[in-house]
Amino acid sequence: MSEFRPKDHSARDLLRELFPDTYRELFGEGQPQAPLTLGLYPVADGRLALVHGDQLAEFTPLDPKGKNALHCDLCHYTRSRSEAALYRVVVGARRTRYVTLCLDTEPCQKRAGPRGLSQLSGRIFPLEPMYLD
Ligand SMILES: [Zn+2]
Repeated sequence: MSEFRPKDHSARDLLRELFPDTYRELFGEGQPQAPLTLGLYPVADGRLALVHGDQLAEFTPLDPKGKNALHCDLCHYTRSRSEAALYRVVVGARRTRYVTLCLDTEPCQKRAGPRGLSQLSGRIFPLEPMYLD
């Protein structure tokens, strides 16, 4: 777990601190007022960051169990185990969501379109404020 307190940092600040390379790709340097962002971005270790405006949620892939096909919650395609993964998203102190997504997120997001992405965002955000003990 990180030591960041979401209230003190905007999600973009978090993204910049945790994943500076990704941040630079997304927003560039010296661009204080980027347009409202909505999208999933590969970060590190197979994780994905869902960014919507100044909100950010991290999707952590879980080890696959079983052999059933997966149903992508974003583009709604049926995927094999090698094409999709189950991701865990912590949305609150005691609340976790599980989302199945294609591993190849770019074409997945194209299939889903902005509406699919905003539906996914609506399932994740707003995050509960989380405070560490
Ligand atoms: Zn998909």
